[in-house]
Amino acid sequence: MNSRYYMISEYFRRRYGEKVYKLPVGLPVTCPNRDGTCGTGGCIFCGSIGAGYENLPDTMTVAEQLAVNRRHIEAKYKAAKFIAYLQNFSNTYLPPQQFACLLEEACQPDVVGVAVATRPDCVHDRYLEIMADVRARRGVDITLELGLQTVNYRTLAWINRGHGLAEFIDAAVRASRHQIGVCAHMILNLPGDEMIDVVEGAKTLSALKVEQVKLHALYVVKGTRLAQMYEAGEVALGSCDEYVERAVAFLEHLYPEIALQRLIGRAPEENTLFTNWSKGWWRIRESIEKRLAELDTWQGKRCDYLNGPAVRKFL
Ligand code: SF4
Repeated sequence: MNSRYYMISEYFRRRYGEKVYKLPVGLPVTCPNRDGTCGTGGCIFCGSIGAGYENLPDTMTVAEQLAVNRRHIEAKYKAAKFIAYLQNFSNTYLPPQQFACLLEEACQPDVVGVAVATRPDCVHDRYLEIMADVRARRGVDITLELGLQTVNYRTLAWINRGHGLAEFIDAAVRASRHQIGVCAHMILNLPGDEMIDVVEGAKTLSALKVEQVKLHALYVVKGTRLAQMYEAGEVALGSCDEYVERAVAFLEHLYPEIALQRLIGRAPEENTLFTNWSKGWWRIRESIEKRLAELDTWQGKRCDYLNGPAVRKFL
């Protein structure tokens, strides 16, 4: 590891021999936490377009969306290998046959992987079998982008997540049995969470040996329940310095072979009341890297809690 943490670019270089670019794809799906199946109104921070602010219209086919985005990325970066990213809402919240067809369609030439964003309670063995089958037949890696956000199940209830910690553990364990990778999404500054929750998050993901992690700061989208609370002065999001300290502690406790997709999210400022303390995401990333250097610390430095540490003295 050249850097003080295991960057996703290094993970891609090792796995595919070169840089790989994600192509966002929007499917006409919703989320069981919005339509009443396991909740209504969704997570308190979820806007009406979910995470799909970079997506093309979902009326376009998967192949069309990939072709358009590919042309754009190819011209900009001379890219040759791609990951199709089924990004918005819960992309396994579909009948299995329809999901299988869409997954097949995502396996276009030069697509080396498919990333499927979904919720832990939408990961059923039937869908994992479909993913494992496509992986084996088409020779593409399949990764679940799985929102957890925090391991503090009281905070999960407060943000109206509609699932707890156990559902995430269950999904991650079963995905691993089917050789489907997991990228866990975590928010490090959720109101009510403390440093102990952030560290326990890193420890839980390390124990589960997820493949990748994406870190975010909470952003406040206009029109959401969180926006109402924010405007009423009911929520505290912490300072940027605090986020940096939490990210450093998270990295120190994270298993060194877990790749970091992001240290901070990249949401656009328009339509939000609060985004990354109005700083560029790259500045916050630089602050985290600088702090790691100042403390002479690195990812995994405190990852000494796995595999029976109390009996090591006898070995
Ligand atoms: S699980 Fe995702 S899509 Fe569903 S309500 Fe929460 S943030 Fe929105």
